[in-house]
Amino acid sequence: VLTEKVHHTVLEINLDAIRHNLNFYRSLLKPRTKIMAVIKAFAYGSGSSEVARLLEYNKVDYLAVAYADEGIALRKDGIKSPIMVMNPNVDDAFNMIRYKLEPEIYSLSLLREFHEAYNAFQKELEVHLILNTGMNRLGFNQTDLESLKEYLRYNPGIRVNSIFSHLAASDEDEHNHFTLTQIESFKQMASELSALLNYKPLWHILNSGGITRFPEHQLDMVRLGIGLHGVEVNHKYQNHLQRPAVLKTIISQIRKVKAGETIGYGRQGKAEKDMVVAVIAIGYADGYLRAFSQGKAFVCIKGQPAPTIGNVCMDMTMIDVTAIEAKEGDEVIVFGNEPTVSQLAEWAHTIPYEILTNVSSRVKRVFY
Ligand code: PLP
Repeated sequence: VLTEKVHHTVLEINLDAIRHNLNFYRSLLKPRTKIMAVIKAFAYGSGSSEVARLLEYNKVDYLAVAYADEGIALRKDGIKSPIMVMNPNVDDAFNMIRYKLEPEIYSLSLLREFHEAYNAFQKELEVHLILNTGMNRLGFNQTDLESLKEYLRYNPGIRVNSIFSHLAASDEDEHNHFTLTQIESFKQMASELSALLNYKPLWHILNSGGITRFPEHQLDMVRLGIGLHGVEVNHKYQNHLQRPAVLKTIISQIRKVKAGETIGYGRQGKAEKDMVVAVIAIGYADGYLRAFSQGKAFVCIKGQPAPTIGNVCMDMTMIDVTAIEAKEGDEVIVFGNEPTVSQLAEWAHTIPYEILTNVSSRVKRVFY
């Protein structure tokens, strides 16, 4: 008989904290500025439909996902908001029409492919055009604009819902000048394109870091992702945010290890003295990175920090509980308020996005 409790590791998501964070960013915006919530990659690991439902209820204007299937899953769960698909594939055109998903278009060839596919289904194509202003990822360059304009001029049936660009370093002071250059090129390119339309598409360029650092450039819409999850790159605002996600597990076993013995794979953990070691039910297959091995990270048990010892295993990790009170079955906080996602990211020399999106699908999400 399968029990509801598949295993002991859970990611608790406080939806009210996400709502709180949304309202914080909203407080930095003018009343008419729209919000596109970026909820790709399972809403940064937190659960697409649950988060989308909350955002929709709280009047977010647009949602963005990476792939059509993420959008389809949202529609099947009853999400009605407009959805932009950031990495669309023309093979998904039929389903994108059926589920009303709007492609991000980054090249003339992609625009042609989508236009032909939608024509074949006799449907009007609504698109979001992305411009490359220095990120050098997806997007039209300045030099591509003439041919794009020509295509749009001859195909007035294509509806441009928005024109946007993405900042490469919105969160780093040392790149402020570059960021402002990106914003200026965007405005100039977007004006050129908008001039040939007899309506005004939405313009947008700011992501979370951009909203707090360059609010004067909020334009018609902003794209809010990581900020919803309580990670603020602009530290002066961190106190205004709540941390919605808490990754929890339990102590499976406690053992005494004698001085001179080793712990775990490769015998990498070494007991310098007699120790008490706890085995916790989380490993790299849950998204607890192997980079956290050997004391590079700590977890918290009843508020007391316990460092890892030895290498993180696939489903388990050993921690040193010699100095603290701990027993089998105790709850273990892997991230939350202590340690935070940002601390874990620092310990693994990565970014909070990677820590959040790495929590694997076998970790049960619990919403409250
Ligand atoms: N816009 C684009 C094009 C993105 O790729 C992303 C996220 O990667 C975002 C906005 C959201 O950025 P952030 O999570 O920093 O708010």
